[in-house]
Amino acid sequence: MPTSSPATILGVALPSPLRRLFDYRAIAPPPGGWRPGLRVRAPFGRREVVGIVIECRAHSEVPASRLKPVAAWLDDTPLPADWLWLCHFTARYYQHGLGDTLSHALPGLLRQGRPLEARTRETWRLTPDGQSLPAEALARAPRQAELLAMLRQHPRGVTTPAITAQGYARAQLQALTDKGLIHSDEQPLIKAPPPAPERLLAEPALTLNGEQAQVLGRLHDGLERFTPALLHGVTGSGKTEVYLQLIEAVVAKGRQALVLVPEIGLTPQTLARFRKRFRVPVVALHSGLADGERLDAWLAALQGRAPIVIGTRSAIFTPLARPGVIIVDEEHDGSLKQQEGLRYHARDLAVARAHHHGIPVLLGSATPSLESLAKAHSGHYQHLRLTRRASRHAPARLELIDTRGRPRRGGLIPPVIEAIRQTLAAGHQVLVFINRRGFAPTLACETCGWLAECRHCDARLTLHRQPHLLACHHCDHQQPLPEACPQCGSADLRPLGTGTERSEESLAGLFPEVPIYRIDRDSTRRKEAFESLLSEVRRGDAAILVGTQMLAKGHHLPHVTLVVVVNADAGLYASDFRAMEQSAQLLEQVAGRAGRAEHPGRVLVQTQHSDDPQLTLLASRGYDALAERLLAERRAAALPPYRFLALLRLEAPREEAVQALAEQAAEALRAWLADQASEVHCLGPVPAPMERRQGRYHMQLMLSAERRSRLHEAGAWLIGWLEQCREARRVRWSLDIDPQTLS
Ligand code: ADP
Ligand code: ZN
Ligand code: ZN
Repeated sequence: MPTSSPATILGVALPSPLRRLFDYRAIAPPPGGWRPGLRVRAPFGRREVVGIVIECRAHSEVPASRLKPVAAWLDDTPLPADWLWLCHFTARYYQHGLGDTLSHALPGLLRQGRPLEARTRETWRLTPDGQSLPAEALARAPRQAELLAMLRQHPRGVTTPAITAQGYARAQLQALTDKGLIHSDEQPLIKAPPPAPERLLAEPALTLNGEQAQVLGRLHDGLERFTPALLHGVTGSGKTEVYLQLIEAVVAKGRQALVLVPEIGLTPQTLARFRKRFRVPVVALHSGLADGERLDAWLAALQGRAPIVIGTRSAIFTPLARPGVIIVDEEHDGSLKQQEGLRYHARDLAVARAHHHGIPVLLGSATPSLESLAKAHSGHYQHLRLTRRASRHAPARLELIDTRGRPRRGGLIPPVIEAIRQTLAAGHQVLVFINRRGFAPTLACETCGWLAECRHCDARLTLHRQPHLLACHHCDHQQPLPEACPQCGSADLRPLGTGTERSEESLAGLFPEVPIYRIDRDSTRRKEAFESLLSEVRRGDAAILVGTQMLAKGHHLPHVTLVVVVNADAGLYASDFRAMEQSAQLLEQVAGRAGRAEHPGRVLVQTQHSDDPQLTLLASRGYDALAERLLAERRAAALPPYRFLALLRLEAPREEAVQALAEQAAEALRAWLADQASEVHCLGPVPAPMERRQGRYHMQLMLSAERRSRLHEAGAWLIGWLEQCREARRVRWSLDIDPQTLS
């Protein structure tokens, strides 16, 4: 960009859904001049908002009389260029407004205009005089003497709150300061790492087995450039240990590691494992942080004070001063994809970002997504395998148990109940996996067949016992239980099917002497509740755990030797083309909980379709064999990963409005595609699988193409058309690039 004349026009991205920049007149610049990446305050309508300068130009298309000046600049150093690149890339790839993308990527306090400064704490240390003072010198002021002795033990300093928490008063700090014995300065909460690599580890690394060592060797070879790799290792094969040792190598070079984990995976247990290994700060970014904590962590990463950053999906937007590696754990996990607003996939952004930085990216999973497997097969990713568990026992096979025509108690058939009995008698733990929370999936009338349905959604209401009510799991509707059937007046209303609460209740009836822990979103609303349940479970006494997929992922439950899947069919026959892939991943993850320590495990899977060819393949030959077959099917059906999809979703309270717009959009798009002789296919519009949800009608239009670039052109055209369309103002719409679900 020519710099001969100073910029007079600033193109600013504002927190607005509009896909454009807003032009403002420049004011007197900050010390380094106007540059992209500087935050400004700008008048917008009747408010003032915080925006980010994207372009500095000499001209604007807006007539000079209508240009307003920005109100003020907020920073004198711009946000880093590679972070801006990531936001630009995200906005372009997901066809989303840049302003809204930037707001998503910035911590809340920076969006509100807080300076780019880390919070600091007043920290106290001894002066040279204080260090050399003889012990008896303060005999007449014993509290001051104690304070001095305490500070002597902490050469790196003690913060004011830590001192007052021990019962010392400001007056004592002041008295010692006046005597020239102590002094204070302001220190960031997250401190810079100690420089020496030999001081990096707080505990020694494990000795790797042969496979792990080979994998780590190949990763070391690729440290200096963009090397995408799929770490495909069975559950418990020591992937995390490989991550830890790779991070060690990266941090020893003075670089930073960014680790993404699924929402469910960022447990105190995981964090503790990282923090125990390293002496350098490990900062965590997740939804539970207070605004100030988030800003501290973000700035520590930006300024290079945090060598290791670990977080959930949105942590992909953390700026890094010296990026060294990006690791995505459980790369197949659905929570890495945001399902509303900016619908990005953190795994895919991780690969793009690593490419931009020229650093390695490691995608780890026991059950890789078909997308990543296809890239490993085609040689785009290194395919690194770990086939053996670090502990003695191989992962358990799935045993399919057909439930057709057999009596059930709490959803369980007699041979399964017997297996539970034997496991408990041996003093081991049982995990009963049931992917429905609540007491029962719905309430039914025995007389006329009426089912409790949500009045806002095409969905059944779930029966809950704690507290006693009917609740919709698709909107926030709740209602009390009816006394009698609203259709025929019969009082014979009964729960239909089994959820976690009911399973817990019937297991308690069958095994009254054994503690039962129910672990689902309702029983663990508070994080501490979840952790305390888990720590009781880890004591290891015979027990039954009943849980949803919260339990299936990531947790190390060493005493579980039997896993029971109450109903494998729930997800299998969904209309979504990814249903089998996702069910198989979940089943393997659940199965992976069994037999992780001394004793081998068994996994019993109840199904009504024990002869289903895909399920039997999964059971007999495992996830990898099934994945190969699914890939072949996807290729034959021209579905991802062999073809690219974009899904336009439309919704409004009135069905006719949605339908009219969807048809109009499809027609316009088809005419344009024909005109362009484009290879892009347009399917639909069709009603969404759940047509009515939260009182609104949902329809969708699918775009598919062999080449990504063609899909993007068509998507961009469609968005342009919708933005111009008057009818589209009464309908909410969004375009989902690489949709993970078709619902
Ligand atoms: P994954 O991430 O693949 O599920 P982990 O890294 O959590 O596997 O390892 C599973 C268990 O095996 C952990 O308890 C871990 O401490 C242990 N482990 C991993 N690698 C080794 C090793 N090389 N030697 C001994 N134990 C190991
Ligand atoms: Zn009835
Ligand atoms: Zn509802």
